[in-house]
Amino acid sequence: MLVVVLHDRLKINQISRFCNPENMMHHGTARTGQSLVDSKLVSPEQAVAIDQVTQQFSMAVTPAMMELVEPSDPADPIAQQFIPDSRELDIRPEELADPIGDLPHTPVKGIVHRYPDRVLLKTIHVCPVYCRFCFRREVVGDSGEGLSPQELDAALDYIRTHDEIWEVILTGGDPMILSKPKLNHVIQALDQIDHVDVIRIHTRVPVVDPGRVDAEMAQILKVSKPVYVAIHTNHPKEFSEAACEAIATLADAGIPLVSQTVLLKGINDDPETLIQLFRKMVRNRIKPYYLHHGDMAKGTSHFRTSIQEGQALMRAVRGKISGLCQPTYVLDIPGGHGKVPIGPNYLQKQEKETYLVEDPWSEVHLYPPEV
Ligand code: SF4
Repeated sequence: MLVVVLHDRLKINQISRFCNPENMMHHGTARTGQSLVDSKLVSPEQAVAIDQVTQQFSMAVTPAMMELVEPSDPADPIAQQFIPDSRELDIRPEELADPIGDLPHTPVKGIVHRYPDRVLLKTIHVCPVYCRFCFRREVVGDSGEGLSPQELDAALDYIRTHDEIWEVILTGGDPMILSKPKLNHVIQALDQIDHVDVIRIHTRVPVVDPGRVDAEMAQILKVSKPVYVAIHTNHPKEFSEAACEAIATLADAGIPLVSQTVLLKGINDDPETLIQLFRKMVRNRIKPYYLHHGDMAKGTSHFRTSIQEGQALMRAVRGKISGLCQPTYVLDIPGGHGKVPIGPNYLQKQEKETYLVEDPWSEVHLYPPEV
């Protein structure tokens, strides 16, 4: 019975990939347990469990990421991020299909208008890899739904007719796996909307599929408006030579780069790993931007730290690395209520206009100082 279900699922995946030209770019991407066995990354026994998970949540591991996995390390930070684990089938009651509440803020398909001055434009539902902790795991993947050309036109029209929109954030899925003509079309269309001043692209491509970033892509991103690229990266090991070259291609073209990192238990939840990661970013001309507290996506509890642990980590790194290397630790409030910084807090109000303020080495001082 299981074999039949798996076979049907694989068939559906193959058809869906055929229908998605963007998704066909890497023949070497592992999408089944067997392909990981063939690459000597997992045992045949593990492959059975992996295929059970992929019936619910898509899997894709690019050749670039497979190369970085050390199979003898059970805690390998790359394997943990991309290779399915049976703990994903443990879905907690508090975990949500739409953890950051995109749906209530979707006026037309492909647009999320949560904050007055900016929108998300979700052009594509596929990614080069599927992160096991993804906050949009219910909508990205082989079973997700992208925008048809008509739906993309309607989404662009929404932006054209709302002149309060100052910034458009392309996300998905991963917009940098759109075909180059399609990416060019979207960037050009946004560049021509007068009230849109800034375009931002959220992507994992420069790290997980660096071969896609070339001079042509950098050229597409060079329009009259600034196009910021926010690169999702979670561990210093992701900065392979090829990834650093891809990032340099964008930086050399004058594209401003910022980062997004998810705080992940057992992967980057220790000060030394975070310090190395943030320094790698700055060394590669990426300004650390957000450290996200893990979202309540289905089957991801094994990745989540507590907020208290996250705050302690931020405190631990504060005194040790340059301010240039510090991102903001943020929580997307479940239900679509927005994103807020969640500390730690260094300031305690006393009576009148006096405060107790804690320095990076945990000593407390009075502000203003007593004379
Ligand atoms: S790249 Fe982003 S959208 Fe795609 S699976 Fe990873 S976290 Fe989700």
